[in-house]
Amino acid sequence: MQSKITIAIQRKGRLYENSKNLLIKSGINFSANGERLLARSSNMNIDILLVRDDDIPSLVSKGVADLGIVGQNVLAEQAAANNKITAKPLLKLGFSKCKLAFAKPLNSKLRSLKNKNIATSYPALVKKYLIKNSITAEVIKINGSVELTPYIGIADCICDLVSSGATLEANNLVEFKSLMDSEAVLISPVTLNKI
Ligand code: ATP
Ligand code: ZN
Repeated sequence: MQSKITIAIQRKGRLYENSKNLLIKSGINFSANGERLLARSSNMNIDILLVRDDDIPSLVSKGVADLGIVGQNVLAEQAAANNKITAKPLLKLGFSKCKLAFAKPLNSKLRSLKNKNIATSYPALVKKYLIKNSITAEVIKINGSVELTPYIGIADCICDLVSSGATLEANNLVEFKSLMDSEAVLISPVTLNKI
């Protein structure tokens, strides 16, 4: 019998529906109902782990999962922050497209990032960008409500995910520089020995 394959996908959130549909369209029958964290395929020797997207790069890097579906943004941030994150993208999947971009308040006179306070949930990617461009600036890590930080005196600008731009607009922010484009990717451990 074919050895078992374990695939990690997001349990709920922006990646979930498309990830689940992709597996089902690939012929893997499974049901991921309610609070279940492990779904066994009924027609293939495949287990689906239903987890937070942030846990997918490390589960795949450790080989706990043979495949995973995660945003390039999360994979790139974790790989930049931690050299144990070695999972490799195999394929771009064409969904959950967005970009990581710098934005400032509409009325801000900010012209460059030099000596500015930048709030972000992606500190490793922002620091890498600053080093690459020889810019000295302060990076403030914040996990949520990043858009609020320029208005409460914490930051001059932010670096956050943008898709339609509606969230920026609703918070009177305007994008001024893009750091990276992102979409969902299929990832595997560096040594793929089961498939
Ligand atoms: P989890 O509970 O699994 O940690 P989360 O809240 O971190 O979920 P989601 O908001 O579900 O994550 O987003 C998952 C991924 O979807 C993002 O990392 C990104 O790759 C992608 N994405 C696409 N568009 C957007 C957007 N406008 N804002 C945030 N993420 C987006
Ligand atoms: Zn997450």
